[in-house]
Amino acid sequence: MFNSWNGFSVDYWEVGKMKFLHKKKSKIHGFGIFTTKEIRKGAVFYKVPMDQVYDKPKPRFAHIGKNKYVKDTKILNWVNHSCNANTILDLTGKQPKLVAKRNIKAGEEITCNYNLTEKGGNKVKCTCKKEKCKKYFLRRE
Ligand SMILES: [Zn+2]
Repeated sequence: MFNSWNGFSVDYWEVGKMKFLHKKKSKIHGFGIFTTKEIRKGAVFYKVPMDQVYDKPKPRFAHIGKNKYVKDTKILNWVNHSCNANTILDLTGKQPKLVAKRNIKAGEEITCNYNLTEKGGNKVKCTCKKEKCKKYFLRRE
């Protein structure tokens, strides 16, 4: 199901027969997750695997609840922060999911507003360059 995720190659996440999320070099920071197909506003386009949930934070883990941090090295841990994100990390159900906040074009980077879900962590200077940039976001190093 997964191609090699290390290195610089383009990699895909497969949903049914659709391969559309891939990791590549980001203009925001390091690597990011990009979509190769259009995602409609409101679409739940990724469900976070819950097989690696920890009670302590580690770098790149995402905070998904009280003392709950998920390690998802395929997709979620590579989603970069933006103050004007195109995606929401929805934590309301049993399984966290990425929901499109607006229509996302093919080729766009998938972004999340970390400040909505990360509690604690370090304030990191934000370089999203969006109009409503808060100038920082929360991240665990
Ligand atoms: Zn920003």
